[in-house]
Amino acid sequence: MRIDIPAGSDFTFANLPFGIFSTPGTSSPRAGMAVGDRILDLAALATTGCFDFDVSVFSQPTLNAFISLGKSVTVRARSQVQGWLQDSTNSPLTPEHLVDRHTATLHLPVQVGDYTDFYSSREHATNVGRMFRDPDNALLPNWCHLPVGYHGRASSIVVSGTPVRRPYGQILPTGSDTPVYQPTNRLDFELEMAFVIGKDSPKGVPIPITEAEGYIFGLLLFNDWSARDIQRWEYVPLGPFLGKSFASSVSPWIVPLEALEPFRVMGPEQDPPPLDYLRTRGPAHFDVGLSVELNSETIARSNTKYLYWSMAQQLAHHTSNGCNVRVGDLMASGTISGPDADSYGSLLELTQNGTTGDFLQDGDTVTLRAYTGGGDQRVGFGEVTGCIQSAINPDTL
Ligand code: MN
Repeated sequence: MRIDIPAGSDFTFANLPFGIFSTPGTSSPRAGMAVGDRILDLAALATTGCFDFDVSVFSQPTLNAFISLGKSVTVRARSQVQGWLQDSTNSPLTPEHLVDRHTATLHLPVQVGDYTDFYSSREHATNVGRMFRDPDNALLPNWCHLPVGYHGRASSIVVSGTPVRRPYGQILPTGSDTPVYQPTNRLDFELEMAFVIGKDSPKGVPIPITEAEGYIFGLLLFNDWSARDIQRWEYVPLGPFLGKSFASSVSPWIVPLEALEPFRVMGPEQDPPPLDYLRTRGPAHFDVGLSVELNSETIARSNTKYLYWSMAQQLAHHTSNGCNVRVGDLMASGTISGPDADSYGSLLELTQNGTTGDFLQDGDTVTLRAYTGGGDQRVGFGEVTGCIQSAINPDTL
């Protein structure tokens, strides 16, 4: 059978990202692949006996078990499907294996174990440092020597489309020395990408940088919602806490690292050169265009190639003390800002900390998008979207 991919679709045969979906007809969440405007139901396809591994992994409500089979299985499964989609001879695919993507409900694709957020965009770290600390010494001394990060909260990671409730928090009003407990007035988004860990690593053993990408299953879009006023009061000296843990949104489709291979690029020159355990050769970055829409208006465009620290460097550093990682762990990049004023990945930067524009209002919808390549080689991430709901007064509960 033949599947037509609409022009401009993120989900070409070159992409084939994995996700978890359900349909009105079959409400149990199961594994699928996005293809054009359809979803290939992998659980249904597997009943034809076309795969030679334990296909019960496709009938589970997360991709963790499938990912745990390892790249030797997941890469081969994807390329088998790629072949069947493009050559109908000997293809087990039938129209019953495909569902209309727009009638499906998309779920969180993995059960996230641990979640880490890095701070790997030099432009973002510089912009924030200028505003919050010292304009002349925006970057702290460690920044160019290691990928700075913090351990985040996995419980509040939600799939695209989930509304985001404006959080209450402790805030220090301007000019006051006494904090108040109230809804945030400085609700923001952060334009990020995240990668999903595809292989457990042993405790006590760092992942060498040359092997780091073998531990990356794939990537998705990530919006690290942030309450800047809560964040500003609480973050000293241990870093982000409740200003970010109320919600983070991910796109529903995980783009396998393999799909991004043709789009590798060299990252920015690293000066000073990193220590040996963080040193890479060759292109370890990816050229993926990013955009932010606020209420359907594009307000920023950026690119993952602007990141200073690569995913391999982030993972090598994360495990450099022997900290292990597990399948389903999520590592986010940090806000990806570019060099120009229309390439900033947060309202904090786009509005100069609220001086040239507003932070998010109730009812606002923020949508992040990403893609690379074009035509029938386009590899897109779809979108991650979220609408802001008004705060709930805790006194009324
Ligand atoms: Mn962040």
